[in-house]
Amino acid sequence: MERITFNLQGARSRLQTTLCKPVQFTGRGLFHGIDVTATLLPADAGTGVVFRRVDLVGEPDIPALCNYVATVPRRTVLAASKSATVETVEHLMAALAGLGVDNCLIEINAPEVPAFDGSCRDFCDGILEAGIQQLDVESDFLHVDHVVNVRTSDGRQSLTMRPYLHSCLAITYHLDYGLNSGVASQVFSAEITPEYFYQEISAARTFVLESEIKALQSMGFGRHLTAKDIVVIGDDGVLDNELRWSNEGVRHKILDCVGDLALSGKILAGHVTAYRSGHHLNHELAGKLSTIRKCDSSIRNVA
Ligand SMILES: [Zn+2]
Repeated sequence: MERITFNLQGARSRLQTTLCKPVQFTGRGLFHGIDVTATLLPADAGTGVVFRRVDLVGEPDIPALCNYVATVPRRTVLAASKSATVETVEHLMAALAGLGVDNCLIEINAPEVPAFDGSCRDFCDGILEAGIQQLDVESDFLHVDHVVNVRTSDGRQSLTMRPYLHSCLAITYHLDYGLNSGVASQVFSAEITPEYFYQEISAARTFVLESEIKALQSMGFGRHLTAKDIVVIGDDGVLDNELRWSNEGVRHKILDCVGDLALSGKILAGHVTAYRSGHHLNHELAGKLSTIRKCDSSIRNVA
């Protein structure tokens, strides 16, 4: 077994990967607060990422692909049937995609992935501790050679993927909640190599506006959370917590993009420019990307 760490940068194609050994995560889900254990297991080439609800009769599988996405606000939910669902998968998906793990079976005993601190650093540390190994099969590597765009009908949110000279995903995110939100406008660009992702993106935590958390908690979501557990932004800034970077918010938006775009089922190379996009648009772009066949030929013509 050849254990690999951060050697995936620069590949035009590469062999598929999986974990060297199982790794287990125990915590509480972000929205429902239910205790949960998720065990990540090595998987064969071609498996992709698959969740398995081991607490349900028949232990149904839920593939982490965009055609299994359920339309639910504020998070990424996968559903293979009415009961076979798994919620808030985006941060775990980001950890796997960001570190370059293509194949993984995730046995989970509750309907929501553990949240930890709202970032994906704990997942990354566990994955790196378990180790990543190459398999003997080429990956489904998509190097886009044309512009792929999605936007909301009012044009206020958009996601555009363009050809990119390097063989990895790059994301430029424009965060803009408006002048009166308490969140400063932020723009950040990241080239998602495993090393960069781990160091600069993986520890960026999810955040929520004070008005939003009150509304969510009144609907029964996230009642276990305090401003110490999650970054809450009030009119005058962050409540009862310290930011890890002054632009932690936009870094987390990039983390979400990495996780959601992984639902395309492909290893992506291209430059994504995001304006105020959220999970729904991310899923739409992942859907478009999932239908594109390999198109690697004209990349050299791109300035
Ligand atoms: Zn998130």
